Amino acid sequence: MTARFGPCPHCNAALSYLEGVAGSSMSPKCPRCKSEVSVARATFLMADHSRPTTKPPVVVKAGS
Ligand SMILES: [Zn+2]
Repeated sequence: MTARFGPCPHCNAALSYLEGVAGSSMSPKCPRCKSEVSVARATFLMADHSRPTTKPPVVVKAGS
């Protein structure tokens, strides 16, 4: 199996892309936004909790 890490193309959540594991799909769904992610090989998507420092920046807009 091959694992790689990357953001969801839809919601930018940190995901683990696990190729060749049970439950892999050619159109896996992001566990966060539930959108299908197109992949070149059968892949299982899992939220990546192993890299707490790489979470996307939080944009806080000051009320105006
Ligand atoms: Zn997503």
